[in-house]
Amino acid sequence: MTGQLQCKDIPDDVFIGAVRTAPASVALGWRNRWDVHEALEAVMGRDIPYNLLMAKARKLEVKGLLGGCTCGCRGDWHPSDECDDPMYCCPSVGA
Ligand SMILES: [Zn+2]
Ligand SMILES: [Zn+2]
Repeated sequence: MTGQLQCKDIPDDVFIGAVRTAPASVALGWRNRWDVHEALEAVMGRDIPYNLLMAKARKLEVKGLLGGCTCGCRGDWHPSDECDDPMYCCPSVGA
């Protein structure tokens, strides 16, 4: 693949799949974003810039597919259907 990787080059289900694959920490099932980053690079077979990772996470949050912190203040993510407590999900940016 040549050129700059963009959000649309990462399918939503591949990203959420990487979130599910990442080891869950503590009882809430949160994934550290760096674990997701690693898992996503493994399935995509190439480097994913950090900016792109965060931009894609925000898009998925706006779509209601991803919960947790997409603003970067904490760094935990979870698939929305595994959400235990929306109180801990950071408010959507621009939703
Ligand atoms: Zn946050
Ligand atoms: Zn949540």
